[in-house]
This record gives sequence, structure tokens and C-alpha cells, in this order.
Amino acid sequence: MTLTSGLGGQLSIDLGALARNWRALDKVSAGALTAAVVKADAYGTGIEMASKALHAAGARFFFVATPDEGMAVRAAVPDAHIFVLYGLYPGAANLYIRQNLMPVLSSMSMLEEWLDKCIERNEAYPAAFHFDTGINRLGFRLNEAAQVRERIEKLGYAPQMVMSHLACADQPSHEKNRTQLALFGSVMSQFPGIPASLANSAGLMTGRDYHFQMVRPGIALYGGRAVNGRKNPMQPVVTLHVPILQVAEGRTGESVGYGATYSLNRNSKLAVLGYGYADGFFRSLSGTNQRPGGKVFIRGKLCPVIGKISMDLTVVDVTELGPDLPNPGEGAEVLGANIGIDEQADAGGTIGYEILTSLKGRYNRIYVGDGRLPD
Ligand SMILES: *Cc1c(COP(=O)(O)O)cnc(C)c1O
Repeated sequence: MTLTSGLGGQLSIDLGALARNWRALDKVSAGALTAAVVKADAYGTGIEMASKALHAAGARFFFVATPDEGMAVRAAVPDAHIFVLYGLYPGAANLYIRQNLMPVLSSMSMLEEWLDKCIERNEAYPAAFHFDTGINRLGFRLNEAAQVRERIEKLGYAPQMVMSHLACADQPSHEKNRTQLALFGSVMSQFPGIPASLANSAGLMTGRDYHFQMVRPGIALYGGRAVNGRKNPMQPVVTLHVPILQVAEGRTGESVGYGATYSLNRNSKLAVLGYGYADGFFRSLSGTNQRPGGKVFIRGKLCPVIGKISMDLTVVDVTELGPDLPNPGEGAEVLGANIGIDEQADAGGTIGYEILTSLKGRYNRIYVGDGRLPD
């Protein structure tokens, strides 16, 4: 493929694949509602377009981190049920109510702020309660469960949902999963009849015990690997092609890139890509003679990154392509069907989540497909 945009790379987002991933997860969690986590600009794919496609696929419940993200979903999907994971900070209640957003309340002060507003307006505005069962981040602490229950019982207030979050779900056999499941059971017993939610993507794939009334997949929707050590069943959503600017010759003994960290051990053909760490290609994907880095798919072969990745440029060794060398302007695949987000992440010592959410570069973004079922 030849790139023509003035913006550098072409980031293609397959909304059809996103929708198929949602439906596939919805099948696995049959019996529970399948929400869609669209925080961080829908893991870099674009919150408005992703939310619309997910809604067309059947999603009605959305999770975001911030109220601003909630407003973006609200604009894209007027009838969405939107939970805001950051919860409530002082003074924000009016915004939530105006935009019909549900805070995920995770402390006594957040709860009081919300209940004050409910009393003031004489209306039981919906909210979810988040309990910490072992990750030690946001959440009511376990010993607050009885206090929370007493407080709302007195008012006759009931939450929409009680939830918690797993720390080690990417390792299904980790004992912490069972521990958190048991602790979540003890929280739920304080709130009989209230819908419950525990599972992220990995929890959803770990088993029915974790599903309860709602599952909250994020990464799996976007094609990422949720569970370590298993074949990833999801379809890739993101494809990124970046331009090859130049194909040059390098000679044995010469070095490549800043710091001269890679020296050529043969006469080589080097493709220079218009793509660097400013575009989300982490410097940790650089390749030295001691340690291989990321790879890029060109003309049917995976070609290694050599030398340090710089701000706007990356060099790959295309010697193995023989006479079939790429032309300037041709696209090199950095993410897609031939080199996945998780393979790239593994090479750079990070996770697919970080690869996706770093795609803020100088791309021409295109969307293909939509969320509708094929006829
Ligand atoms: C981000 C997040 C999710 C989604 O997690 P994935 O691992 O991407 O599926 C679910 N629940 C909460 C509370 C989160 O913060």
C-alpha cells in the first residue's frame, strides 16, 4: 500500500471487528449484561466512533473514567447508560445529573455528596458503589460495607449496582482471583437484590463465577490479549501503516542511530520509517546488538528495528527482503494482522493497553465498517 496523506501514518480502525468482538464476548457472558469500557478515548480508537459502533452491536452500558468522557459518550449515544469510574469529586454532582451520568462512588465522602444532592432535589439519582476487594485503589474498604448499607437503608436509597475490580485476572490461576471473588460475595450479601459486577475482559474469560449481572470488558473489545498464556480469540481492531521515507545502504561495521547502539555485522539495506516515539512507538522497542526490539511488516516479512527509535524516525533492517525492496512512500505495517499489539508490547516490555492508548500520533485516522450485523 502507498500512503498519500500529509499526516504520516494511516491508522485504520475496524468498527466491524470491534462490534464482532463485543458480540463474541456477549455470547461468552450470556446471562449477564455486557457493558463496554470506553475510557481513554476508547483505548485510543476514538470514543465517539467506538461508542456508536458498540451501541449498534447491542451495548447499552458504558464505562468511562472522567465526566468529560461521559459527555462524549452521551453525545454519541443519547440513550446510553454511562458509569463514570472516577466517581464524584466535590462540586461535580450537578454536572452528572445534567448529563445523566452515573458516578461510581468509592468513598464515604463521595457517597455523602451524592446523597446530599438526592435529598436536596428529592430524587434517587442512580449511582454504582465500588468496593475494594484487594487491588487497593479506588473503592470503599471492606469494613465500610455495613456502614454504607446502614446509611442508605435509613434513606431508602438503593444503588444501581455494586462492583469491584480484579487485580490478577490476566493470570486465571492466581489465587488472588478466588480471594477477591469470596470477598466480593461478602460485600454482595450486604446488598441483597442489587445487581453486581466484578469482571473485566480477563475476568469474563476466566469463568461464569465471575460474571454476576454485568461484565465490563475493555481491552478484549479492541482486540488485545486479556489473559496471559492463552491464544487470544479476539479480532484485531487497529491497523497502523507508517511511511517508508528512504531505503539506504549501510556497510559492515557502521552504526545506526543515536548512541551508536547497533552496529551492522553485514552490508545491509536499511528502511527509514517516518515514525518514532512521538507517534507512540516506544523507545523501549529499539533494537541493539544484544537485545532485539520491535518488528515491522514490510513486503510479506517481519523486519527488525535496529538502533534507537528517535522522535520521528525508526530504522528497520530490510536486507532479508533481497531484491524485493520497498519504495519510498510505501506503508510499513506496525500494528495489524501481521504484527499484533501484544507482540509489539512484548518486544517493548509493556502491555497492549499502553500501545493502544499511546496512538496519539500524526496519523490519518480512517474508520472502516460499523457496528451493524451483516445482512
Ligand atoms: C479499565 C477497567 C475495566 C476494563 O478492563 P480491561 O482489562 O480492559 O477489560 C473494567 N473495570 C474497571 C473498574 C476498569 O477500571
